[in-house]
Amino acid sequence: MIKTGSSIKDRLKKVGLTTKFNLVTNLLVALTAIVLTTSMVSIEQTTRKIELLNRGYSIAQVLAKFSEFALYSEDSESLNLVLNTLDDKAVSYLALVRKDKTVLAERWFIESTTPLLAFVNNSQHLIDAPIYSENKSQILFMVPVLSTRSTLFDGHMLESESNAQTPELLGYVRLVLNTTQMEQLKQKSLVTVLMIVLVIFAGATLLTFLLARKITRPIAEFVEATKKVAFGQLDKKLQKTNDGELGELTRNFNYMVDQLQRSNLAVKEHQENLENKVEERTQALVVAKDLAETANRAKSEFLAAMSHEIRTPMNGVLGMAELLISTNLNARQLHFAETILKSGDSLLTIINDILDFSKIEAGKLEIDNHQFDLRKLFEDAAELLAEPVLSKGLELHIQLPLEPLILVEGDEVRLRQILLNLMSNAIKFTETGNIIVSLIESKNDNARFTFSVTDTGIGIDKSQQAHIFEAFSQADRSTTRQYGGTGLGLAISSQLIALMGGELTLESEIGQGSTFSFTVQFQSRLVQAESWSIPEELNGKRILVVDDNEVNREILLLQLTSWQTIIELANDGLSAIMKIKKAQQNKVPFDLVILDWHMPNMDGIEVAEIIVSDSEIKTPKLVMLSSAAFDEESCRAKNAGIQRYLIKPVKQKALFDCLTYELAQPDFTQLESAESHDTATEIQSIPHKILKNRLITDNSCVKNSGESGASVSNKNCLQNTSILLVEDNLVNQEVAKGLLEILGCNVQIANNGKEALMLYHKVDFDLILMDCHMPIMDGIEATKEIRALEKTSDNYQHMPIIALTANVQHGIEQLCNDAGMDDYLSKPFDRKQLEKMLQHWLSTSLLAKRADEFETIALANDDALKSIAVLNNAALEEPILQRKALDNILALHRPGMPNILARIITIYLDSSPALLFTIQQAVKETDRDKLFNAAHALKSASANLGAVQLSKTCQILESKESSFEVATELIGTLKREYSTVENALKIELLRLTDD
Ligand code: ADP
Repeated sequence: MIKTGSSIKDRLKKVGLTTKFNLVTNLLVALTAIVLTTSMVSIEQTTRKIELLNRGYSIAQVLAKFSEFALYSEDSESLNLVLNTLDDKAVSYLALVRKDKTVLAERWFIESTTPLLAFVNNSQHLIDAPIYSENKSQILFMVPVLSTRSTLFDGHMLESESNAQTPELLGYVRLVLNTTQMEQLKQKSLVTVLMIVLVIFAGATLLTFLLARKITRPIAEFVEATKKVAFGQLDKKLQKTNDGELGELTRNFNYMVDQLQRSNLAVKEHQENLENKVEERTQALVVAKDLAETANRAKSEFLAAMSHEIRTPMNGVLGMAELLISTNLNARQLHFAETILKSGDSLLTIINDILDFSKIEAGKLEIDNHQFDLRKLFEDAAELLAEPVLSKGLELHIQLPLEPLILVEGDEVRLRQILLNLMSNAIKFTETGNIIVSLIESKNDNARFTFSVTDTGIGIDKSQQAHIFEAFSQADRSTTRQYGGTGLGLAISSQLIALMGGELTLESEIGQGSTFSFTVQFQSRLVQAESWSIPEELNGKRILVVDDNEVNREILLLQLTSWQTIIELANDGLSAIMKIKKAQQNKVPFDLVILDWHMPNMDGIEVAEIIVSDSEIKTPKLVMLSSAAFDEESCRAKNAGIQRYLIKPVKQKALFDCLTYELAQPDFTQLESAESHDTATEIQSIPHKILKNRLITDNSCVKNSGESGASVSNKNCLQNTSILLVEDNLVNQEVAKGLLEILGCNVQIANNGKEALMLYHKVDFDLILMDCHMPIMDGIEATKEIRALEKTSDNYQHMPIIALTANVQHGIEQLCNDAGMDDYLSKPFDRKQLEKMLQHWLSTSLLAKRADEFETIALANDDALKSIAVLNNAALEEPILQRKALDNILALHRPGMPNILARIITIYLDSSPALLFTIQQAVKETDRDKLFNAAHALKSASANLGAVQLSKTCQILESKESSFEVATELIGTLKREYSTVENALKIELLRLTDD
């Protein structure tokens, strides 16, 4: 209904003015005509009826008068006379009726009609009063016939007598009138009226039409004119036709058109001027743009050339440092060379960034597509960053589809660069929590992939997100101070992604973390990915995954389920043990348990110990996942009965192989021997660089004992003084630490003022070397705090604090003095300057005391020191690897077979770290047999490869005569020698593979 109503309204809105006018007028005329017709017809009808009634009544009255005698006498002749006197077309029946209503005589005027003989309402009937009744087509009159005596009997009766007498009823005249004629006349008149109305209506419509046109013509012209004006045709003027409102409108319209013409002209003129100006400016801009582009290109080319020029000598520095590392260096030298290598690496990264950036800017970076495996790329990137992830105690998860191979055709190198940049940022800016790297979406048909890197780190402020992808842009300036960086990584990544047909986007909440997502359009994707062929060993095996980290549990669940194993999950040690017991009671024990090492309340090793020691539990195979590759935990894990120790991030293939291997082994409880491929297999999966770093770190931890022989010759008054070095820059830390150690000092490092204060509370230092500019808490503030603490302390002792700072900041000396620092050493300083400063500030009595202590220690360790000195001397004479031994192995090589020397070196590198650990462990636990077995195994393996010096050290360790004190001292030498041998063997391996 509403719809129809509104559609009529809509239609009406569209109708023109003339039509509306016509419609309204015609409607009014029609209405008038209808009202007129109806009222005329109704009047006509009433008039005719009254007429007929009067006529009928008069006839009946006249007849009643004339029939008095006939009725009285009932004489048929008189009766007929009365009946025959009447001749009226309207009468259809006439009868003379007695008093009792019986008919005396009657006459039918129209044969076919049945007259209306009864009265409709008899109750109204007064005997002597005339009455009438009617139906549709007839009207009945009953007029009483009354006697008058004078008329009947004495025609001379007096008037007064006749009035005084009551007339007597003799009968009735019954007269029926036919209304058909009246109806016919009524219809005739109706038709006539209708005809007249129609003629009037037609005339009115015609008149309206003509008039409306006349009235609305000026408006139509006006509309037409406005249309033309709207389309810019301003030459149209209206003719003034009258003086009324329309005349006023026309005048105004014409005035408006005049105004418009004038302003149009002005605009045109202005536009022409403007165009000329724009033309001039555009030409100037084109020239400026060309100039800017040329300058920009020149700048980028210069940067590229410069970066390249810098890279060339850098290669030399790095290469030589690498070579230096592979020569026979003592631990300190090795450490220095490593620092050069590390600093060089960082410098190279920055140079590479600048080179990439300038290449992109100059439009010279091209995408190099080839086929590669996405899974490998992701897992390699995760492996490369395992070290910082581990050291920050974070969890790194890689979420990929389950296919073993995800082959795509694209630029592998650039994708790796983007991933590494986003992942290292995520690690850098996250202190606790997870980093999740996922392949969110891949479309088979067009090889479009979406990746994301999510962290739970510091997040980025909304206002800074807008320009975070611009070059040299960092979230805020304090970020640079605290985390370092050039602000180029994201700019390069986003441009590389754009080159690969995608876009880098960011979602971040400050304090909540960030998600960087990007889409890459690869050339193709291998649709039919290879799938794992699930061996019997895995099929239907029951595995319990124990991990507190939900994401890890989910990933493992997905992976393991796809390998057709039956999985249960536990989020802590206690529920894991309950589940194992319950499964055993229900006779569906677990075949294997995957334990995370780091869990709250009870760590993985503790869980394993409980499982193994509980006599009620038939021990399942135990596999541990840990981020710690080389620490004591792997040994602890072994002792706790854990068969395999996988290093996170675990490669899918490594996990698959490990499970297949372990589940194929019948014996559940036996540990594998140290020589087997368990720990070593996984350790091998760590990149060589990280492996090397870890060994070096280990060496540095035990350096004091290992280096004491060398320190004897350097004995001076600074020997064994305890120095706190407060420095945030890693390289500066290493340099100062190295110099201090050369001077014989014991050094502890704090990365900022806050850490320094913590150490100050715990350790009794002799002197503090304090950098001034540091994140979190700077040196000035830390010194002030220490001075304040000294004042409140019961046994006040003044701590010498020496400021270390680059001599760049004006007034820094004053600041240091004000804070309570004792002296000022400007960076870079050399050993002599440092030595002088220390000697000056450390009191003679303290130095004397330290010197005495040293003497006592030296005497007690005399024997051990002697043997180490012998070894150290020997080390200088022996080559790291005897070429002859290697050549002997090479001589066994048969053509067409894999290189035998490469194989042996690989086996050695795989298995020896575990032996090294066992030796360390055995010395710690003073376990003679364990020490003998491991040292013996390493001795012979090393001798085979010509690592004579290392072999000799092992020989001393295996000897039943040498004490554990000597063994403890020897561990440092052993590790150092092993590290050197390992590096030499890796170089040999590289050479062999290159060949
Ligand atoms: P930089 O070498 O400084 O890290 P990038 O271009 O990689 O350069 O990053 C620019 C800045 O973006 C960083 O300095 C940091 O402020 C911010 N940023 C990048 N990634 C993250 C992240 N995952 N969490 C918080 N801030 C980030």
